[in-house]
Amino acid sequence: MPIYEYKCKSCRHITTHLVQGYVAPVDLSCEQCGSGDLKRIISKTNYHVSSSDRVSSYDPKARRSDDFYKDSRNIGLHAEHMLEKAGVKPTEEFTSKLEKLRTDPGSVIKDSDG
Ligand SMILES: [Zn+2]
Repeated sequence: MPIYEYKCKSCRHITTHLVQGYVAPVDLSCEQCGSGDLKRIISKTNYHVSSSDRVSSYDPKARRSDDFYKDSRNIGLHAEHMLEKAGVKPTEEFTSKLEKLRTDPGSVIKDSDG
């Protein structure tokens, strides 16, 4: 799913929206000041950023919006980042489990039960 970023013309806060399909989201408003006067900007963290770039550019100290947590691609990003920082290559098992968590969380829960 593509991610679109909108910059609020009032307070310059950037709101990120995950867009389902090709339908442009309606009634968007700034999550900070509530203004509806938003301008779409080219996302820095767009859909085409590779996952290794996401890991490298991940900042553990940065403040996160709710959207960060709603984006399933960010699941395990912290762990990946810490491994990379420590120079540890993630194991095959770790990577495949993470991939499952990101794409089909239900299956991981089922796997753990079995
Ligand atoms: Zn605003």
